[in-house]
Amino acid sequence: MNRKHYLLLTPGPLTTTQSVKEVMLQDWCTWDDEYNSLVQKIRERLISLAVQPEKREWYTSVLMQGSGTFTVESVIGSVIPNDGKLLVCINGAYGERIAQMANILGIQVVVNKTDEREPIHINEIEEALKEHQDITHVAIVHCETTTGILNPVQEVCELAKAYNKVTIVDAMSSFGGIEIDMEAWNIDFLISSANKCIQGIPGFGFVIARRNELEKCQRRARSLSLDLYDQWETMENQNGKWRFTSPTHVVRAFYQALLELEEEGGVQARQRRYTNNQRTLVKRMSELGFYPLLQDKYQSPIITSFCYPDESFEFAAFYQMLKKQGFVIYPGKISQVDTFRIGTIGDVYEEDMKQLLNAIQEGKAENVM
Ligand SMILES: *Cc1c(COP(=O)(O)O)cnc(C)c1O
Repeated sequence: MNRKHYLLLTPGPLTTTQSVKEVMLQDWCTWDDEYNSLVQKIRERLISLAVQPEKREWYTSVLMQGSGTFTVESVIGSVIPNDGKLLVCINGAYGERIAQMANILGIQVVVNKTDEREPIHINEIEEALKEHQDITHVAIVHCETTTGILNPVQEVCELAKAYNKVTIVDAMSSFGGIEIDMEAWNIDFLISSANKCIQGIPGFGFVIARRNELEKCQRRARSLSLDLYDQWETMENQNGKWRFTSPTHVVRAFYQALLELEEEGGVQARQRRYTNNQRTLVKRMSELGFYPLLQDKYQSPIITSFCYPDESFEFAAFYQMLKKQGFVIYPGKISQVDTFRIGTIGDVYEEDMKQLLNAIQEGKAENVM
């Protein structure tokens, strides 16, 4: 293989295009008009990826410095009032993390835990809503990157709305790669970040929010730098200005990534490519004796967990062998079963999957793992 650097088959940061990397070769002034207007264009485009045209005026968006977790924490810490109570739907590490944040922030939490190999159960969520009538907010992860499972976000949010709750969705690893309609799905706050399916580089996250819900959040924040309302108000009233130093190069790269998403044909086309990558991967992996952890009907096109083929399998050797061949994969993250994960998102195509699978097949023939 004559690739200069390895492909990232991980759920973010992921492989980006040369053109996304190249636009970072210029410096930008963080409070200059030209840069701020770029921020405004990004904010508008994000809404257009999540909401139908006639509903867009009801939504707004905010960018937040840091990795995705910082943005999740800014939402949890800024949206739930002091007398609020959060229901967290958990079937993986990212759901757990939301509950952990709420605990640290002194927010009252109720958790619903499901086996990591199963999607969140709607009936249990309804029971929780009936049992704890003082719940004000419901949080759920769309694609639980821990395993690659897809949760029934639309059903959970619809149910939450029937009980008059505010809905928060961690769509970090799915937004831009799986079609989402915030209005139809009853999502009030949707969270994602620059370095996942939009295919930008790491450095900030973003929130798309129902405007009338975000407007209620003034002075609710439990942090100054992660105050989502304050960040939004500044961006909104000062034409795309960030309160504190923004990751200018990352923002510029993200704008390029948004243009490239559009060129590809939008979220629908990207979803098709990721789905094709994932199917190509699973089909040949199964032929090679590596079976997916999840039932196919629960599986996202984003990342796939594979069970170790047998007890003698050594992930470390497998990882090093693939890295030498130009592919970086991910270790597993669940306790019940030994797994590793392969991401199918980023600037990667069916041909890359085939090369990866050839490398795995050769490795297997030479008995390196
Ligand atoms: C990537 C990811 C996050 C954020 O992780 P960071 O490492 O902070 O960027 C949160 N939730 C999910 C589901 C993710 O996949």
